[in-house]
Amino acid sequence: MTQRFVKAEYLWLDGATPVQQLRSKTRMIPIGENEEAKLSDFEEWGYDGSSTYQASGNDSDLTLKPVYFVTDPVRNGEGYLVMCEVFSPNGEPHPTNTRAPLRNLLEKCEASHEPWGGYEQEYTLLEPTGIPLGMQVHRFMEPQGPFYCSVGSNVAFGREIIEEHFDACIKAGLMIYGTNAEVMPGQWEFQVGYRGGDDEPAGIMRIADQVWIARHLLHLIAERHQVKVSFDVKPVKGDWNGAGMHTNFSTKQTRDPKTGMAAIEEAVAALSKRHSEHLVKYGANNEERLTGQHETCDVHTFRSGVADRGASIRIPRSVSDKGYGYLEDRRPGANAGPYTVAYMLVETICMSA
Ligand code: ADP
Ligand code: MN
Ligand code: MN
Ligand code: MN
Repeated sequence: MTQRFVKAEYLWLDGATPVQQLRSKTRMIPIGENEEAKLSDFEEWGYDGSSTYQASGNDSDLTLKPVYFVTDPVRNGEGYLVMCEVFSPNGEPHPTNTRAPLRNLLEKCEASHEPWGGYEQEYTLLEPTGIPLGMQVHRFMEPQGPFYCSVGSNVAFGREIIEEHFDACIKAGLMIYGTNAEVMPGQWEFQVGYRGGDDEPAGIMRIADQVWIARHLLHLIAERHQVKVSFDVKPVKGDWNGAGMHTNFSTKQTRDPKTGMAAIEEAVAALSKRHSEHLVKYGANNEERLTGQHETCDVHTFRSGVADRGASIRIPRSVSDKGYGYLEDRRPGANAGPYTVAYMLVETICMSA
């Protein structure tokens, strides 16, 4: 059979603490001349774990196992982005592999609960000096207020990057839901997750894979504009909003008109009992963001409410009106790991009921 060679960019998570970072490298791989790529076309590959905080120098070869791929939307020529899990030489998932525990947990409850997700990823675009785009001009002029969902060169900063990123996510086939300007200058949000399609299930692990790919694309596109993407939860101290990763979550039971509201209430009750356990997994320095001053209550308080953007868990007005749907966990910080947040939600909500 004749073959052609295409670019495959392997993505994985390193061992940086307290926040894991994306790494990637590219190789050419052969695929069938007239065929679309299949997951099995992407062979396992190795890398030097001693350069990624994941191994010591004398036994440093780690294994990349491809688990999901999409079309590469930004490079010239045919190519793919290939999300990988990291494995140790003994064949076990590496301790920094946060996807493997989620995968194992879902084997126990995916069939019974069908957990779906939708992440709202906030982030801040920084000038090379580390100052958010637009902040230089505005920080001494006015408090936040005009920037959220704004349009106009005096209030919205970095839109070309946001638009390029949005289109790249669409081209890659990610379940990009939307995007908006946020409360602080240079701060934006994109959402990935369930979009209301009848034929588009939103299993939370696949959505978490897509959040990582969307983060990668954002870094890449911003790099081309000499702009840095920050997922810091509190990029500017003081009276400016922090950055979160609200995580929307539903199960077969919460989506069912017959059982929806009762299942949502049960989920909230289960979450209320494990508030502090969730918080330690919800991102670095999150207490700087969860002060109770800027949406979402303070780090030591658990509260839920309908349409309450000051709560830890919000039940959207539309969900409360219909009597079924999903809940929004407002606690995760922008730098939280999507697999880890998913793990906590699935464990607390699906393994208790
Ligand atoms: P907010 O009003 O909090 O800003 P957004 O409009 O930014 O909310 O995002 C809504 C999020 O809710 C999206 O990520 C979407 O995928 C998610 N979502 C919608 N329906 C569901 C559902 N049934 N299960 C899980 N997530 C959902
Ligand atoms: Mn939002
Ligand atoms: Mn937001
Ligand atoms: Mn939200």
